[in-house]
Parts: sequence; C-alpha cells; structure tokens
Amino acid sequence: MKYNLIFLFLLGITYIQCTSEKPKPKTNTVLPETINQISAPDPIPEYIDLAFVMGKFTIENHHKIVKIDPLHADNANRYMHVEAYDAFKKMHTAAAKEGVQLKIRSAARNFDYQKGIWERKWSGATLLEGSINAAKSFDNPKDRAVAILKYSSMPGSSRHHWGTDIDINAFDNSYFEKGDGKKVYEWMLSNAHTYGYCQPYTQKGTERPNGYEEEKWHWSFLPVANDCLRMIKKEFKNELITGFVGSEQATALDVYTNFIFGINKSCLD
Ligand SMILES: [Zn+2]
Repeated sequence: MKYNLIFLFLLGITYIQCTSEKPKPKTNTVLPETINQISAPDPIPEYIDLAFVMGKFTIENHHKIVKIDPLHADNANRYMHVEAYDAFKKMHTAAAKEGVQLKIRSAARNFDYQKGIWERKWSGATLLEGSINAAKSFDNPKDRAVAILKYSSMPGSSRHHWGTDIDINAFDNSYFEKGDGKKVYEWMLSNAHTYGYCQPYTQKGTERPNGYEEEKWHWSFLPVANDCLRMIKKEFKNELITGFVGSEQATALDVYTNFIFGINKSCLD
C-alpha cells in the first residue's frame, strides 16, 4: 500500500512535467506589418489612366464600356462601364420588385460629348435651367463659367467620363419630391448603397459647401469611380483642362478642389 502511494505520487509528478512542457504559442511579431500590407489600397487598374479619367477615348471602342439595353434606358444609344452596369441591372430588378422603375437618362459621356454640352451652353444655344441665355446674361467669362458650372462639368472633369455615373428618370429635383419620383428617390436612398451606388451631388451647405448644385438624379458606382478619383489625385491638374471655349477659367475656379472633390463626403468611403 505504501509503495503504491509512492508510485502514484511519482506518476503524478511525471504527468505535471509532461503537460508543462507543451510548447506555448509564439507571439507573431510580423502581424502588424502584414495588416498594413493588406489594408494598403490596391493598385489602380491599368486602364484607369489620365486619358480615361478625362474622357479622352472613343466610347464605342473602349473594352470596359458597354451598350445599355433599351430595357434600362430612354435611348438605344447609351453606354456605361460594364461593372457599373452589372450592378445597375441587379438594382433595377430589386427596385422593380418593389414597384420602383429606374430608367437611365444619361450615362457615359466622353470629352467631345461634354464639350458639345458645354459649348452649347456657353454660346446660348442651350439655355441654362431652361430659361437663361448664358451669352446674353454673362459678359464676363468667369461669371459665365460659374453659371454653367451649377449643373454642367467642364470637359475633362466630369464623372460621366468614367462610365460609372448615371442620371436616372428626370433632370429635375422637384420630380423626386412627390409621387412616383419621391418613391424612386426614397428607394435609392435606402438601397442604392447595397449595389455600390451613391449620390455625389447632395444638397449644398456646411457639409458640402462647394461644387455643383444638388442633383437627385445623379448616382455613381463607387467601386470604379473611387479608383478614378485616386488617379485624379495622383496625376490631374487644373492646367490640363484645355481645348474648349472658357477652359482658361478652370484654374481660377479651382475645378479640381471645388468641383471634382466638391462631392458628398460619404461617397468617398
Ligand atoms: Zn449626371
């Protein structure tokens, strides 16, 4: 009995020694650096270069730009970025299930297309906000540019160049404030982010002091648009805006800071 107790005592000591010798997990001192590498921004895709973000390409021939099915647009000749369109189609289906109809009224526009819009407004051929002749109302070129910039971008600085931005249903904030339009806008506010879309031109005020006026119809597909903004941050300068009447106002008006980056801050996340 005495020997049995000594045996059990020795067995216990051996057990304690064996378990205490188990290797302890090592602290991974490399981890913080690895996290930094993972969270560093991905490289900007190669096709998103300065020419692309300034709309200097042919819409119909760009490998990332596709034609929009007339089912989704008001016109058979509309184009947009393939990734933005894939997300739009899903959003369109989800909205339709809830009785909300989304119709694209404008999408990808290159530099030349935007130059046409801008110069028609500059000359007075297109009236501003349906009633103002810019040529007759503003002799001073800076004032004329400011008036056009309420709702239209200078060529080379439009988000529509990227194919990521769409105008839906009606170019009129009041449409989105009652009836079907209100239903559309409320649906977009609640759901568009699920599909990667954000409204860049929200109401102006302390949160968004500069840039275009509010556009409840303009929505942007952020996964690609924010890569375009990263390229702009890297290589774009106001002095690069040239090639159309009034372009010399770009630097004085600081189009880069006040208009390209004068957007709803929640679209930058
Ligand atoms: Zn727009």
